[in-house]
Amino acid sequence: MIEFKNVSKSYGELQVLRNLDMHVEAGEKLALIGPSGSGKTTILRILMTLETINSGHVMVEGDYLWHQKVNSELVPASEKHLRKMRENVGMVFQQFNLFPHLTAIANIEQPQILVKGVDKSDATNKAQELLKLVGLEEKQNHYPHQLSGGQQQRVAIARALAMDPKIMLFDEVTSALDPELVEEVLNVLRVLAETSDTTMLTVTHEMNFARDFADRVLFFEKGQIVESGPPEEIFRNPKEERTRNFLKQII
Ligand code: ADP
Repeated sequence: MIEFKNVSKSYGELQVLRNLDMHVEAGEKLALIGPSGSGKTTILRILMTLETINSGHVMVEGDYLWHQKVNSELVPASEKHLRKMRENVGMVFQQFNLFPHLTAIANIEQPQILVKGVDKSDATNKAQELLKLVGLEEKQNHYPHQLSGGQQQRVAIARALAMDPKIMLFDEVTSALDPELVEEVLNVLRVLAETSDTTMLTVTHEMNFARDFADRVLFFEKGQIVESGPPEEIFRNPKEERTRNFLKQII
């Protein structure tokens, strides 16, 4: 579903990704962990086409993301190509980014209608179904300012799911929340991981959550994958010294 091949990415002098190779199977649930600044969010932003790459290739479902083939030559992707590729991917950010002037249900209906051209009644049905999934069917007519941070984030998750993306990206979705609201959001993601076929990548500092959510945990340092494996292996029996040191500090 996703392939990074020899990808490098710098911001000016700062090299954030170094010759990164990463391969994700369809339906896999991945947790990206590692020290701050190791490039985890940059990977999600590249997949969302919010950042370009400096070298290497990224492929999604067998199609180049940042390039396209014209007369069998690889050239930089056009805006049209990027728009098409973007439809594969949904992202939920640290900040909930709901439209403040729309109710919870309208926040979920609008992108379906405007971007995908779905009928209003179909969009409403889907929004109601998803509000139920995130436990907020009672709050459908509330505006964002009438909802807690945890509830707003659950609406944001429902909104991203409404677009039926093949890949869902979650970027530290609980880091802007008060501690007592964290679990209600993580529990929604735990259920999604269990019940959905969608490929999911999450950047998180919540190791208990990563253990429940992920089929595979990737430990990053300085823009490279130091170690990757099933959660039991990474958390109980990490092979690399650097992984052990990181986990000692964080758990
Ligand atoms: P992580 O998610 O692992 O904390 P990031 O991918 O967010 O790491 O960031 C990697 C490094 O790139 C950090 O040092 C960060 O400050 C830097 N960085 C991220 N975005 C930008 C940007 N737009 N301009 C300059 N530096 C950036």
